[in-house]
Order: sequence, then C-alpha cells, then structure tokens
Amino acid sequence: MTTFTDLLSRAAQAYSRAEYSTALELAQAAAAAATQPFQQIEACELQMRAQHARGMYDQVLTLWRNVQVLLAEVEQTGAVPPGERLRMEERVLNTLAASQRLYGDLSSALETRHRQLALGQQIDERAAQSEALNGIAVIYASLGEFARAIPYLEQALAFQRDLGDVRQICRMLSNLADLHLHVDQVETALNLARQAWEQLSQVDQHGDPQVTTQIHYILAEAYSRTGQFSQARAAFEEALRLAELYRTPRTWIDACSRYADFLLRQGQHGRALTLLRRAIAVSAAMGASTPWIYELYRQLAVVCEAMGDCPAALEAYREYQRLQVVIFNTESDARLRQVEARFRAEAAEREAKFFRQQAEAAQKQRELDLRYFERLTQLKDELLATASHDLKNPIASIRMTADLLRWMIDPRFHDYLDRITRQVDWINQLIGSILELAKLETGRALNIEPTSLTQLIKHCVSMFQTQAEAREITLTAELPDTPITIRIDALLISRALDNLISNALKYTLPGGSVRVTAAISGEQVQVSVIDTWIGIPEEAIDRIFERFYRVMGDQDTEIEGTGLGLTIARTIIEQHGGQIGVSSALGQGSTFYFTLPLA
Ligand code: ADP
Repeated sequence: MTTFTDLLSRAAQAYSRAEYSTALELAQAAAAAATQPFQQIEACELQMRAQHARGMYDQVLTLWRNVQVLLAEVEQTGAVPPGERLRMEERVLNTLAASQRLYGDLSSALETRHRQLALGQQIDERAAQSEALNGIAVIYASLGEFARAIPYLEQALAFQRDLGDVRQICRMLSNLADLHLHVDQVETALNLARQAWEQLSQVDQHGDPQVTTQIHYILAEAYSRTGQFSQARAAFEEALRLAELYRTPRTWIDACSRYADFLLRQGQHGRALTLLRRAIAVSAAMGASTPWIYELYRQLAVVCEAMGDCPAALEAYREYQRLQVVIFNTESDARLRQVEARFRAEAAEREAKFFRQQAEAAQKQRELDLRYFERLTQLKDELLATASHDLKNPIASIRMTADLLRWMIDPRFHDYLDRITRQVDWINQLIGSILELAKLETGRALNIEPTSLTQLIKHCVSMFQTQAEAREITLTAELPDTPITIRIDALLISRALDNLISNALKYTLPGGSVRVTAAISGEQVQVSVIDTWIGIPEEAIDRIFERFYRVMGDQDTEIEGTGLGLTIARTIIEQHGGQIGVSSALGQGSTFYFTLPLA
C-alpha cells in the first residue's frame, strides 16, 4: 500500500516536472504494486497522461481498454462510492479524448468529450465540464470548423473564470486566440493571447508547458499577421525553446510548422528547411499515426522549390502525396466505418420500430379477435336458446300427434306411424346432439366437483342394464376395490361414458359381452369400454371421432346413429385434460378408453 502511494506520488511529481518517461516508469511500477482495481485505475490514468505527453497516442488507447475493464470491476464490486468512480472515469476520458483527437479519430474524440461533459454534469463539476467543452471546441477546430468551435470555448472559459483557475483560464484564452486567428480576427486574437500571457506571467509560467509554448506561437503568428515581424520571430523562437525545454513534441512540431510558414514568407528558406526536416524526423519518431506529417512534407516541398532544389521538392511532393493518400484512406476508412455504424444503428432502430408496430398491430388484432369471439359466443348462445325452443317444440308436437293418431287410425296403417315416429326420434336425437356439442364447444365452465368415479361407472352401467339384457349382452363393470375419487364434472363424464357404452352395445351381437373397467396408472385413471363384435376398419380409426363420421359397413348402416356421440365424448374428455382413444380388431371387438388426470 505504502509502495503504491509512494510510487504514484513520485510519478505525479515527475509528470509535473515534465519528466514524462520517468513519470511513466514510476506509474507502471505503481500499477504493478496496486492491490485494488481503483488503484490500478489511478496508476493507469497517470500512465495515459505520460504517454499522451510523449505523443504515444496508440499506447493511451491501449491503456484505456485496461481502464474500461477496471472501471466495470469497480462498479460491480462497489469498492468505491459512485461519485468517486465517475470522477475517476472523467479524468481518464479527458486524456483519452485528447489522444483520440491527435490520433486522428475525431469522431471517437467527440463522443468521448460528450461523455465527459455528461459525467461532469452528473458529478456537478465545472472544471470537468469546462474541460469537455474546451475539448469539443478543439475537435471542431481540427475539422476546420473554427466559427462553430468559438462558442464552446467561450462557455468553457466562462466556467474557468468562475472557478478562478488562472492556468486553465490562460489555456482557454490561448485556445480562443488561436480560433480567432483562424477566422481572421487577428486583433482579437492578439488581445486574447496577450491577456493569457499577462495572467500566466503573474503565476508560475512553467505550470503548463504546452500552454506557455502555445501562447508564444499564437502571439508570434498574430504579430506576423499584423506586420510586427521582429516580435513575431522572437515569439516563435521562444515557443520553440520552451517546447524543447519541456519536451512537448507535439507543441514543438506545431510551433515549427507555423514558424516555417513565417520564415518562408520572410524568405529565410534555410532555417525553414532545417526546422521542417527536424519536425518530420520528430513526427516519424512519434509513430506512423501522426496525421499532420504529410502537411510538413508539403511545406518542405514549397521551401525546397523556393530554394530551387527541384529534386528535393519533387521528392517531398511525392512523399506528401503518398502520405496524403495513406492518411486520407485511413481517415475515409474511419469515416466509412462511422457511416456504417450509423447506418447499422439506424437500421436497428428502424427494425425495432417495425417490430414495435407489428407487436402493437398483433395486440390490436388479438383484441379485435377477442371481441369478435365474445360476440360469436353470444350469437351462438342466442342461437342455441332459439334453436332448442324453435326446433324441439314442433318435433315434440309431431311426436305427440303421431302417438295420438295411433288411437284413431286403422292398425293396418300403424306401420306408417312407426316410420314417422322413428324418423322423428332420430331427428330429435340429432338435434339434441348438435345442440349438446354446440353447447360444449362454447367453452362453458365445467362444474368440477370431487366425484367417486367408481360410483359413477356403476351408475352408468346400471342405466344400460335393461337395454343390454334385451339384446342378450352381458354388461359388467370391473372396478378396483378401492374407490377412485376424482375432480370432474360428473354429469359430463357420465355423458361421455354413456356414449361409449351405448355404442358398445349397439355394435355388439347378442350373446356378446361389454365390459367397463377402470384402473389407475401413474398420475391418471383409465376407463375402458370393451366390446366383442364388429370392430372398426383400420382406415376409419383415425376418423371416427370426427363429427358426423360413421363407418359405412354392411352392418353399420342398419344401426341408427348420428355420428356425433364420439365427438361429444372427445370434447368432454379433452375439456377435462384427458385423452380418448380406441384400439380395435375388425370382427373381434373394440376397446374405447379415456384417461383423466387424477390431480
Ligand atoms: P353414432 O351415433 O353413429 O354411433 P358415434 O360418433 O358414436 O356416432 O360413432 C361414430 C362411428 O364410430 C359409428 O358410426 C361407428 O361406425 C363407429 N363406432 C363407434 N363405436 C363403435 C364400437 N364400439 N364398435 C364399432 N364401431 C364403433
């Protein structure tokens, strides 16, 4: 712990003395000695600043990736209060954004600055907000949008004036002066730069090497543009000296480039040439990722040309062109990626919107369906009520009239009456079945009650006993000794079982037998009705539960039926969460069974 704190504070001291390599080494040692993720973040942050000052922007980006992981870790463990964590993140973002800009990735830099601004607002820190606003202005300036940059910078400056941090005020004044130079407001620029220099002179001039250097070359340029050439030259030389002293390569290159332009205009080609060659060498040493290097070659070419050194000019132009293509390609690649990313984001947004609309439409449709279904159910109920009344009454009256006629007419004609009554009975049965099925299908709530299934079966069987005896069929119930109690709608289950027993009796020859069994298997009970005659052809097995389906065999046609009994039974069983089925051998018999869940 002590080692970490000690190393970190020594690193910070080295950094403030502009000894960036030493600062870096110490910060790396501190990171190695850190025992907590948040300590590692602190050490990384200092490394990032040191690397940034050394112009090693790609190293800054690598460090940032580590910090991201560490930040997530800190957030997850909650080892540090949220406010402190956000403050840490803000500090890191500050260096990151600066490096991203100098690395040439302006859109990422802009994004980082906006995130920094948001964090600054969140933790209510003006310094952070001012830093972010200043950063945004600098990015716009890098894009050549100077006029757009100015208001951001003015706002940043206002924050700093509130805070009273002289060094920061000077930095922003100097930046603002630079912007005014770009929009050709040279007098304003000169004023601002002078203000900056005066204020800085009152405090420690060496506080911020970059600012001190920058103020000088901005002053120099302003002097040069207002025709004060000797002052300009002196200021440029001072800028270079300071940049060299503080070893801030990027600022030094900036100063060189501007000074070279000045020297060229002044006809001092030799000095311009030396400076540009050195600037190119320094840029190259900083890495291939220095986007401004081609600009230095252009200046070099112009100087060489002015000096009459055509081969050197040609070579410099070629290099300028080559680098420009490379850098523009890299830039346009980056831009392409940005456009692509934006396009993907927009597409995703569109897709999300589309799905949202679809979901809403589906929901609306469901509501409409529901309302339609409700209306349909209502209509069906009304129809059922009317149909039962309007159909059943006239049929009952026909049946009654036929019965009365039997007393009045010659018995020779009774045969006709019999036919009428048979047909009326059949129609009555058909209408009864249709209405019953319709009622079941409207999905009326079941009247579920605990019921003794064994009792229920015994009762159903007893109801068919007379009919069985009349047909000389042995009808038996084979039930387990322990009664089975189950939660069902007893009336409906009786109805289903009645249908199966009635069918079994209908399709069994006299002398045959019909057995009704019940057995528990696992979580359910199975009830079977086993008969001993006609059987069902294989091709019909799958269809007999369909409504109105009847097997058209020689014997069946003789047997009356509506083709609805099994459909009704299946509906009832399925409404109870059970299953119905059949196994059959033609000419030998069928076993109809249904299962019901016990729970
Ligand atoms: P139906 O009123 O015609 O009996 P169902 O829906 O009850 O109507 O039965 C449909 C058809 O299934 C019957 O017409 C008959 O062909 C066949 N079927 C039903 N039960 C049996 C059985 N136990 N043995 C043979 N065939 C049967």
